[in-house]
Amino acid sequence: MPWRIGPVDRAAGVMPDPYRVWLSEVMLQQTTVAAVRDYFIRFTTRWPTVKALAQAQDDQVMGEWAGLGYYARARNLLKCARVVAAEYDGRFPERYDALLKLPGIGPYTAAAIAAIAFDQSETVLDGNVERVMARLYDIHDPLPGSKPLLKEKAASLTPLLRPGDHAQAVMDLGATICTPKSPACGICPLYAPCLARAAGTQTELPQKTPKKPKPTRLGHIYIAQRSDGALLLERRPDKGLLGGMLGWPGSDWSDAPVENPPFPARWQEIPGEVRHTFTHFHLILRIWTTKLPDGFTPDDLVIMGKHQFKPSDLPTVMRKGFDLWRGQ
Ligand code: SF4
Repeated sequence: MPWRIGPVDRAAGVMPDPYRVWLSEVMLQQTTVAAVRDYFIRFTTRWPTVKALAQAQDDQVMGEWAGLGYYARARNLLKCARVVAAEYDGRFPERYDALLKLPGIGPYTAAAIAAIAFDQSETVLDGNVERVMARLYDIHDPLPGSKPLLKEKAASLTPLLRPGDHAQAVMDLGATICTPKSPACGICPLYAPCLARAAGTQTELPQKTPKKPKPTRLGHIYIAQRSDGALLLERRPDKGLLGGMLGWPGSDWSDAPVENPPFPARWQEIPGEVRHTFTHFHLILRIWTTKLPDGFTPDDLVIMGKHQFKPSDLPTVMRKGFDLWRGQ
């Protein structure tokens, strides 16, 4: 993981760069290490310090973030970088309480930065740690209700010495050995004290309260291209889903969306549909296309020239729409 300091450097007293710890933790919220790695490298190459990131244009950051999802994170990332640059002279605060006041930093991320970057004795509780604690103590109360108890157990193990290494070690144990389906108890350093292993209940844990099935919403998007290749897009409002991202003009997303083309024309529906799943719902989009009239200058939309438009600046659902349209 490119944000980690290796054991040899760590033993020699090298501390992780708080900027890189913060950036990786924000990117890793709801996202896998494999998905984050390239984004992290691109961000840190383009903006090697928090001060450099603070000076970036909003559009540049949203463009680099495109495809990583949960776009409120990118907006808060920029806000947070600007606060750290302006109010802390580019140095992240070390304490949990001060970190928690920064934009986009919740209890988990504040604890992770305090522990990993500053060796504060804070308890970091992610899904991996929850699983290890549920098994180590053979806790059968279901998540998410059991979180306070799991946190209490994790806190009871958090050491004063090298808490950052401890936090990462427990997370890594969950990610690599105490895995959800087939925990490798035979090589686990917690083999002896693990109560679930002794009871044979490890693969049943952690228990989870069943989730409600996700509803499916429908919507329409409209892709219009001018004779010179320029495309009609919209910058979505800052608040709400995909906030601040580029996308295609479209309808609301609901059970019965109202067709809402951006200008009157003979819109033709493209065969096929876009399917995408967000945290709380599935989405099916129908795609309509027409020619964008020369000289059309909309107030609240964006016309992007052929060479200015980059599909990689679109969030995934909008890129799926573009790919389907281009394939036709
Ligand atoms: S002994 Fe098995 S169940 Fe217990 S913590 Fe280790 S891998 Fe997980």
